[in-house]
Amino acid sequence: MRTGAVALLWSSLLLVAYWWAAGGGVQDLGAWETGLTSAGRLAGLLASDLLLVQVLLMARVPVLERAFGQDRLARHHRVVGFTSFNLLLGHLVLITWGYAAGELSATPATLWELTVEYPGMLLAVAGTVCLVMVVVTSVRAARRRLRYESWHLLHLYGYLGAGLALPHQLWTGQEFLLSPAATVFWWGLWAASAGAVLVWRVALPLWRSTRHRLRVTSVVPEGHGVVSVYMTGRRMDRLKAEAGQFFTWRFLTGPGWTRGHPYSLSAAPDGRSLRITVKDLGDDSGALRQVRPGTRVLVEGPYGRLSARARTRRKVAFIGAGVGITPLRALAEELDCAPGDAVLLYRFSGTPLFADEIAVLARERGLEVVWLPGRRRPRVRGWATASAPSTTSPP
Ligand SMILES: Cc1cc2nc3c(=O)[nH]c(=O)nc-3n(C[C@H](O)[C@H](O)[C@H](O)COP(=O)(O)OP(=O)(O)OC[C@H]3O[C@@H](n4cnc5c(N)ncnc54)[C@H](O)[C@@H]3O)c2cc1C
Repeated sequence: MRTGAVALLWSSLLLVAYWWAAGGGVQDLGAWETGLTSAGRLAGLLASDLLLVQVLLMARVPVLERAFGQDRLARHHRVVGFTSFNLLLGHLVLITWGYAAGELSATPATLWELTVEYPGMLLAVAGTVCLVMVVVTSVRAARRRLRYESWHLLHLYGYLGAGLALPHQLWTGQEFLLSPAATVFWWGLWAASAGAVLVWRVALPLWRSTRHRLRVTSVVPEGHGVVSVYMTGRRMDRLKAEAGQFFTWRFLTGPGWTRGHPYSLSAAPDGRSLRITVKDLGDDSGALRQVRPGTRVLVEGPYGRLSARARTRRKVAFIGAGVGITPLRALAEELDCAPGDAVLLYRFSGTPLFADEIAVLARERGLEVVWLPGRRRPRVRGWATASAPSTTSPP
């Protein structure tokens, strides 16, 4: 599936380049002025294609989620996004320079003329401003200074940017109108991206949340700023959640409910209830300990490739640390394993989470446990801890 998706991406880029060449793009490169415009046009076409691909990558399309997993999709989204943005800047500069008859000094005046006189150009400029904001705030140094929620909110302007920047090409770009096939391709890709976002990021989560009507049943302290939240709802067996997966959760407790947070299931779903276990790492995760039984919960998901489906062989090693143990604890419960098939390496500082539950899994399911007490040694790569591992019980 992954190879198919990558092949589709490259085919779309090649098709776009072919239409550019068929429209005289290569011949136009022969002269300075037309060459600038032609190169700018190619850059714009490739940028548009990648911009829409970038939207599709984060639209939670199930087949892509299953093939790549969300973390890998997010990494690809970043690379595709920066490439598309660089091409967009190239498009802007080259095409304006070309329209200014190849004279750099006339470029600002030409840019103004193009913006106010050509159809859709004002929208395109507004879209580009949105995209500049998204890209600037996504550069690592800037992102580190922003709260995750602020960055995420600004990032959503990327949809607006894509929505505003593309119509000028659909209205005026000659390659878009070159042939019925090109027109169908561009409008089809645009509609598929917008449709995927509406279906999988908006409609499906709303439908699932309405259908299952999840509510909190209890919030149980696990010690050291960690709580487990138990939830139930209607037709929970139809939720199709698997151990190892996560949801994005929104607890309807009042202001701030719009901020969704991803948490893994910490117990294998039993068709009646769900459990998550959360460490207080910030304001929203910390506020969970005050959530009252009966609170409504909106969910997006289930997401994630880490489930029994990812297993390729009988023997399994679960390796986790701190609160990161949550999906592994759920998987160890659900996975079909005979004694000796599965081993859990668990690094923790202070008291380990789920010590009693893991002891039960060891006793009843033959899970071998290697407890790794202590923090990761500073400035040492890998998993080394200060103390020796203990294979019998948590120290
Ligand atoms: C797939 C996945 C599964 C997770 N499962 C668990 C779990 O089972 N238990 C648990 O305690 N924690 C889990 N986390 C981490 C948890 O999502 C964050 O700790 C939580 O969102 C912090 O929110 P906050 O507002 O309290 O803290 P903030 O102060 O806003 O953030 C604290 C840290 O969490 C990161 N963060 C905040 N919001 C998000 C978000 N929506 N998506 C990704 N990162 C975010 C921030 O970048 C920052 O590094 C998981 C994260 C991911 C990506």
